[in-house]
Amino acid sequence: MSRYDVVEQGPPIEVFQMNNLFLNDSHQNKVNLTIGAYRDENAKPWVLPIVRKVEKQMAEDSTLLHEYLPVLGLEAFTNASVAMLLGQDNPAIAEGRAFGVQTLSGTGGLRIGAEFLNKQLHYTTFYYSNPTWENHHLIFMNSGFTTPRQYRYWDAKSRSLDIEGFLEDLRNAPENAVIILHACAHNPTGIDPTREQWERIADVVQERKLFPFFDSAYQGFASGDLDRDAWAVRRFVERGIELVCAQSYAKNFGLYNERVGNLTFVLASSKQVAPVKSQLTWIVRGMYSNPPAHGARVVATVLNNPALFDEWRSNIQMMSTRVIQMREALRAELIK
Ligand code: PMP
Repeated sequence: MSRYDVVEQGPPIEVFQMNNLFLNDSHQNKVNLTIGAYRDENAKPWVLPIVRKVEKQMAEDSTLLHEYLPVLGLEAFTNASVAMLLGQDNPAIAEGRAFGVQTLSGTGGLRIGAEFLNKQLHYTTFYYSNPTWENHHLIFMNSGFTTPRQYRYWDAKSRSLDIEGFLEDLRNAPENAVIILHACAHNPTGIDPTREQWERIADVVQERKLFPFFDSAYQGFASGDLDRDAWAVRRFVERGIELVCAQSYAKNFGLYNERVGNLTFVLASSKQVAPVKSQLTWIVRGMYSNPPAHGARVVATVLNNPALFDEWRSNIQMMSTRVIQMREALRAELIK
């Protein structure tokens, strides 16, 4: 007899189960389409040269201590992350109404954002695309949201974005519904709205007073260009919409297991920044107290140094070019 006898076996997480099936498969020409992690031409994980370089410098730097970071994270990291997302010259930054919170990668950003929206703004309804990355639902439910809804996204018949269905579902959403939007490189379909379609989405968000929650897990990966991949978020900000955006450095820095992320807030005015930050501080305090430093230091070092930043950009370019080539090659082989 154990008090744990009442615990039932939970279901497996599909993507990890698929990955195990792949690892145990003895087929010579197997192809892994499960976890979205970059592989080089030998199908091996790739540490970005820029990351190796900065880590070597850090190993010799005796000023780097293992003291706690502030609850909301390393400021050199969060400020640089906000600038990378919104663009250095964004008026929202100059006006002091945009700020970032360091999070445990993209997942942690989604979780802190969802907790905040539920506990502080009392939002309870969230919309996610059909289909989407399977964790959106769980994160929002565990954060206290009670009403999950889907919006149409992929049209299997025409094999394209169902923009009319998407907009109709948003028009029927209640005020203050949180709309999870993939900033670029939609997972799993890979199809993003055009700029004109984004404008129409923003129209409905404003008309119906919805709250956009961007998920930016692949900035730089979709097009190879950091600015182009942030266009939708920047356009919403330009239109005066308040929003949050969870950013992940798992893919574009290859820092998957370091859990490096940022949650950007853009408010209508700087007046509410201090109280919002204070409530976020309490949310983080009650969950994990403060974030880890290593990955955030690597990213901050690169983003704040123009020469290193350029090197990183060429690393991203390499990865995104290879991803695009691999997709085209796979498609060609499948057709054949
Ligand atoms: N959002 C989307 C759409 C994703 O595909 C991923 C990673 N697969 C994430 C968020 C979060 O990943 P991480 O927590 O590793 O940053």
